[in-house]
Amino acid sequence: MLRALVSRLTSRADPDQLALAFDRSAQMLHRLRAVGLRQIEDLVLTRNRSTYVSWRGTALRVHEAFLEAPPEVLRAIVVFVNGRGVARRVARKVILEYPVPRGPTRSRRAERVHPEDRPLCDRLTREHARLNAERFGGALKPIRVRVSRRMRTRLGHYALAASHGTAEIVISRRHLRRHGWDEAVDTLLHEMVHQWQEETGLPVDHRAAFRRKARDVGAVARARRTVGA
Ligand SMILES: [Zn+2]
Repeated sequence: MLRALVSRLTSRADPDQLALAFDRSAQMLHRLRAVGLRQIEDLVLTRNRSTYVSWRGTALRVHEAFLEAPPEVLRAIVVFVNGRGVARRVARKVILEYPVPRGPTRSRRAERVHPEDRPLCDRLTREHARLNAERFGGALKPIRVRVSRRMRTRLGHYALAASHGTAEIVISRRHLRRHGWDEAVDTLLHEMVHQWQEETGLPVDHRAAFRRKARDVGAVARARRTVGA
């Protein structure tokens, strides 16, 4: 099975990516075993957003977003696989509640910044630096802020470093044009709270920790507003 997997992957991935893929799967399997996983021999990381965890025999498939999951979520995966009855149903709920990013995945071609939008990206990036210094005590990493012409329903998006390699904040250009600079800065601040969550090892969500921090830094807690026509 391993050999079949290797040949399938080598046909369309370069050796570095292949090594990385195995590395990440091995790392995930190792982490799950550390919290008690039994019977599983092979682990494949997926990007399938409708099934987070599935297994058959000794092969387990887990969505790659769980690479960053905290121990209690990893334990839930173990109980889901090895447990039964009520415990297993509870574990299933914990897994389903884990925030798997729904944004564009890497399989979709990356959006390039429109040349006309560059000054806007620069201005937002400077705004990020200012807000970081004034509201977060400079605790956040410097980050690139980009404007998107693709985003239609979301105002902004924080792309996790964990799933995209480099973290990035994206602001909808449509949102900026329709609602103006001040509202776009509110959205930026909201996404910066998500950045703070990831950088401090918290789950990226809109729960209590998010709301508390959002209040502290003066961000609007609302998650999204429809920008559609
Ligand atoms: Zn949010």
